[in-house]
Amino acid sequence: MNQERYLVVVSGPSGAGKDTVVRRLRQEHPEIEFSVSATTRAMRPGEQDGVDYHYMSPAEFERRIASGEILEYTRYCGNYYGTPKSEVDRRIAAGRTVVLVIEVEGAANIKRIYPGATTVFIRPPSIEELEHRLRSRGTETEDGIRRRLARAAEELRLAGGYDAQVVNDTVEGCAQELYEAICARQA
Ligand code: 5GP
Repeated sequence: MNQERYLVVVSGPSGAGKDTVVRRLRQEHPEIEFSVSATTRAMRPGEQDGVDYHYMSPAEFERRIASGEILEYTRYCGNYYGTPKSEVDRRIAAGRTVVLVIEVEGAANIKRIYPGATTVFIRPPSIEELEHRLRSRGTETEDGIRRRLARAAEELRLAGGYDAQVVNDTVEGCAQELYEAICARQA
């Protein structure tokens, strides 16, 4: 249980700016480690295998679920996403802070497995701003945008169950609030 406080789960709707905030947190606090998830979704331009995700086929993902290598997983907008056990256990046992950036179902599953984990929800300033960010990112089709917005509304309803919520008004401010939420639980 004591080791679980080193585990931090960050969720927030697609387009809320989670990745940018988390990137900022990494720059400011290089001692914090990040779990690299497995996924079956296609690699986006600029992403790297083993850095952004471990990319794999649905058959390989299912093989890993069956062999117990995946701690938690979900299907999100038609693809599998999951946390490899190897990304987490060894690091929290060594007392290193590990951040998982995952969606709400995965976050609830992690909290069931590790009740002492810290959960933080990143909110966009508004739904309109979320839609604007998703569109200007230019990585999704119209259908993908609609699915992500529908999913965002569901995720925002669950934000109250997180240990802390932070609003991504500015990347810098949000990264600082996220850091404070992590430190508050480990003190
Ligand atoms: P994206 O396709 O935008 O990279 O990710 C889609 C959603 O999947 C995001 O909300 C992201 O946080 C979530 N996600 C990424 N990795 C995992 C994971 O390992 N487990 C779960 N449950 N969700 C994940």
